[in-house]
Amino acid sequence: MPVVLVLLYVACHALVMTLWPGETGAGSFVFLTLAPLLAAGACLWRARHDSAAPGWRATALALLLWAGGMALNMVDALGAGRADVTPRASLLLYVLYGVPLVFILARARRERLSISLIDAAMAALLGVLFFVHAGFFAGRIDVDEHAMANMRYMFDIQNLCIAGFAVVRWLAGDVPERRSFFRALALYAVAYLLVAGYINHFTSEDAFGAYNDLLIDLPFLLLVVLALAPAPALVPAPARHSRLSRLVQAGGPMILPLLLLVVGTLVVDHARPLALAGFVVATLGFGLRSMLLQIHLLERQAALDQLARQDGLTGVANRREFDATLRNEWNRARRSGTELALLLVDIDHFKAFNDAHGHPAGDRCLQAVAVQLQATVQRAADRVARYGGEEFAVIVPGCDLDGVLALAERLRVAVQALRLPEGPVSISIGVAFLHPPVMPDSGQLLADADAALYAAKHAGRNRVMVRGALGGPVAC
Ligand code: GH3
Ligand code: MG
Ligand code: MG
Repeated sequence: MPVVLVLLYVACHALVMTLWPGETGAGSFVFLTLAPLLAAGACLWRARHDSAAPGWRATALALLLWAGGMALNMVDALGAGRADVTPRASLLLYVLYGVPLVFILARARRERLSISLIDAAMAALLGVLFFVHAGFFAGRIDVDEHAMANMRYMFDIQNLCIAGFAVVRWLAGDVPERRSFFRALALYAVAYLLVAGYINHFTSEDAFGAYNDLLIDLPFLLLVVLALAPAPALVPAPARHSRLSRLVQAGGPMILPLLLLVVGTLVVDHARPLALAGFVVATLGFGLRSMLLQIHLLERQAALDQLARQDGLTGVANRREFDATLRNEWNRARRSGTELALLLVDIDHFKAFNDAHGHPAGDRCLQAVAVQLQATVQRAADRVARYGGEEFAVIVPGCDLDGVLALAERLRVAVQALRLPEGPVSISIGVAFLHPPVMPDSGQLLADADAALYAAKHAGRNRVMVRGALGGPVAC
């Protein structure tokens, strides 16, 4: 169906050109302006239904600029425009067409506003430099036989960059909707590159109004079809893509500064201040952007580090962090010959609590117990962790046995004092104490605490039992 509509559009275009050949080719201009407008409309429609919306919107903006350039060409051809203004304005719009595309191709997945603004400033200056360079050749067409060819090569380079970057982004795309966007952009950009190359290099100078115009419709109509095609099913990208994707994401920010340096070098002879501005903005922009990104990454790294050490439900240290802390404290106590105690805390009859009040209430109870344990240990060195299920552990370094037992009793009383909507809960605590630890690892401490906890459960729960320094389990 879409292919039929494309053929119909081209057929109508050909028909109008045949029926009203006219000197100016005005009928053809209408179709040439309408095609990018249709493509822009299709992209904007897609942006409303797609998570790759910024890309579709940027493409729509580029197409609107291009359509504007073509509309000015039409005004010029009809003789209604001012000869000195209209061609320059249309050239500006054709140059600006590339700016949103380069901007979106250089952008990583999701950027902060500050980074996007830096990119936008670099892209805008790139457009200005490119326009100055194109304008320089456009102004010399009558006096320099190479000016026209130079201008065409510039547009070839612009189109080649856009098509090349788009293909790379397509191949590197790891999120289905973004891959689908870059696929559409790449196919369109390659088609545009080929058509523009052919029109610019292999047709006569007065190209508009001839049957070659039909070719110009094609990339835009292709984009209409691609934009209106159904969004892709959310299938994860193959693993091999993720490496290329990371490479492109990391290298993408270099595109704009590099292009600025290249185009700045091109204009250095005829627009030195602007070229200098290009160099400064490229260097500062890239530096500033890297700095902001670095700050952002460090913040994220810190947040992830924190998450990796925290229990998701209760917010206290998780099992991994517990294991690492116990290893460190064990080694420290062995080196310095100081005391080390471990408290294993288990909520009594928690299965019954869950059965009676439901799992979510059980979760809230776990959270409340964790907060109470954390609030009751007073020294920063004492570490509360979720050991697993409804068991917590407290590592108590450098504290004598009396102090450890007093802490364990305080914890038991504090949890019993909790006022939960479901009623009171109690805990049993197994305490292991070593002074100094002599074994090569902390396995004995864990085994002692476990045995003491088992004894506390057997002795009737809601109590503290200790094992280790004193031999067998002892009630406190
Ligand atoms: P005891 O007094 O002997 O310790 O009895 P208990 O019922 O507490 O012991 P048991 O080990 O039989 O039950 C532990 C329960 O803890 C079973 C499990 O459903 C519950 N549990 C473990 N992790 C979670 C959790 O994250 N959330 C909730 N709501 N329940 C949990
Ligand atoms: Mg248990
Ligand atoms: Mg229990």
